[in-house]
Amino acid sequence: MIEIRYAGICHSDIHTVRGEWGPVPYPLTVGHEIVGRVTEVGSGVTRHAVGDRVGVGCMVNSCRKCANCLAGQEQYCAEGNVGTYGSVDRDGTVTQGGYSTHVVVDEDFVLRVPENIPYEAAAPLLCAGITTYSPLAHWNAGPGKKVAVVGMGGLGHMAVKIAVAMGAEVTVLSQTLSKKDDGLAFGAKDYYATSDPATFETLANRFDLIVNTVSAPIDINAYFRLLALDGTLISVGAPPEPLPVQVFALFGNRRSFAGSMIGGIAETQEMLDFCAEHGIAPEIELIDADAVNAAYERVLKSDVRYRFVIDVDSLR
Ligand SMILES: [Zn+2]
Ligand SMILES: [Zn+2]
Repeated sequence: MIEIRYAGICHSDIHTVRGEWGPVPYPLTVGHEIVGRVTEVGSGVTRHAVGDRVGVGCMVNSCRKCANCLAGQEQYCAEGNVGTYGSVDRDGTVTQGGYSTHVVVDEDFVLRVPENIPYEAAAPLLCAGITTYSPLAHWNAGPGKKVAVVGMGGLGHMAVKIAVAMGAEVTVLSQTLSKKDDGLAFGAKDYYATSDPATFETLANRFDLIVNTVSAPIDINAYFRLLALDGTLISVGAPPEPLPVQVFALFGNRRSFAGSMIGGIAETQEMLDFCAEHGIAPEIELIDADAVNAAYERVLKSDVRYRFVIDVDSLR
């Protein structure tokens, strides 16, 4: 049993409660960026103890025997991972998320949250953090690599901080320059407005990696042309409609277009330890539970720097 202390607000929560991702199994509690303390453990539990500061991210179970699960990539479980909320767990119950005072989760899907990560800022690492860490690690962001981050929201600002900590040279591509000071403060070397067509000429053939965090439709082909030889554009934000991909834009420089979804449990732990070691954490705005609806409206207007976190004590 985990006594929840903080819960982040992810855009997925909003899509879900509004029924935009299909029918909702009401009553439903959302939230998949959860941190708190262990208050009780079952008799077979060995990985966590009462008093430990722990976290739960986007999934709480998987089949544990398919090739992907055995490879530590439970998010890609062949039978589908069990989402932290709104999924049917293997015992037939509907999972319930983090906007709540307590949650019970199998120990194998519970993460250790290092004490030197600020408590209230730790929650968004469980979704926004791992969603950006995993592709950056997989595609070897690091010294000598030029990485562009498209979008400076909840995901984007974490992608910048993590890629900088990995040693990459980071450029932010945002619609306007309104968050430029923040981007440079997070360690980005350059910051360009995508509303300015000159940006796409200046940066042509520049990047080894582009991490696209934007969920709105963008001219994806214009971004492919920013990739250097063997460069990869990875989308972690998904517009609802298909994107018109011009294959010719991929021919030049042997470019790749990829997707990535959260990360495995071991990799999520690695991300938390990495953030603790490098002293990086999300920028958050702490709110009480009664401000959630207003916060949703502001998330939809991209009016948050950079993630809302609910102080779950306000529910007690
Ligand atoms: Zn999320
Ligand atoms: Zn599996």
